[in-house]
Amino acid sequence: MSVLLGSLFIIVDGPKNIQESNPAAEEPIPAYAGTETIIRSKYDRYAVFTWEQYTLMLDILSQPKFKVLPINDMRKTSDESKVIVGMRHDVDFNPFKALEMAELEMRSGIRATYYFLATAEYYGSIDEKKLVRSPGIDVLFKKIAATGAEIGIHNDLLSVMIIHKMDPWQFNKEELSFYKSLGIQIRGTASHGSQLAKLTVPNYQIFSDYAKSDSVRYEGKAYTIGNHSLKEYGFKYEAYFTDYSLYISDSGGKWNDPEGFPGILNILESSRPGDRIQILIHPDWWGKN
Ligand SMILES: [Zn+2]
Repeated sequence: MSVLLGSLFIIVDGPKNIQESNPAAEEPIPAYAGTETIIRSKYDRYAVFTWEQYTLMLDILSQPKFKVLPINDMRKTSDESKVIVGMRHDVDFNPFKALEMAELEMRSGIRATYYFLATAEYYGSIDEKKLVRSPGIDVLFKKIAATGAEIGIHNDLLSVMIIHKMDPWQFNKEELSFYKSLGIQIRGTASHGSQLAKLTVPNYQIFSDYAKSDSVRYEGKAYTIGNHSLKEYGFKYEAYFTDYSLYISDSGGKWNDPEGFPGILNILESSRPGDRIQILIHPDWWGKN
């Protein structure tokens, strides 16, 4: 109680003053600190791009000709006087880079969508057909949402069904109620390019909207796909199937342009009003020291 009263008293001076008058003051330890230590020690080393480079890109995207939006907003926006950009982030293995990225975007007044992957190590573990989420991951998601970002689901339902032997329909339902319990409304999903998907079909084919057959075979066994639509699953959109004419991506830590990062910046600089661009950036590859 005394701590609470103490901080109430200090707030009179404003939070900025606390920082200035007491630079040694430490932020309270977040609930995800233990998870962060484990994940960062394993995955921070994979970064290949710097935050300076990301800031450079955000500076270009802050030019008045651009309108940068989360994917759910982008798909509902048409404005021929602007270059419409949908900013998509698939978070494959390092959500702590996602928080850093979201904070940089907030400072630039840019909003994006972060799609989180329930089968990733950071998210938790799946044992005996039960998902146990990592300590504090809920707090992290709320913190990222509080920057103004949209939160979505990075769909890996084929792995859920085939590797973890769980019902993808039920699994997804529980995920949606988890986010709802955090006050986060999920509108969209983006398919994860898992190893399994490379051996079978893309994850979006779990939805009847995109399924090219009624089952998928893996190691001699058939698994039913396409028995529920995207809408029945509770989604308004699939990120790959939104309206854009140009697709920029850093998948695998490599830009889909022969000239790499300068080539990407060039594409953005030379884009024209009326263009619609989806930019897929994986926070995992960013924040190289
Ligand atoms: Zn992915």
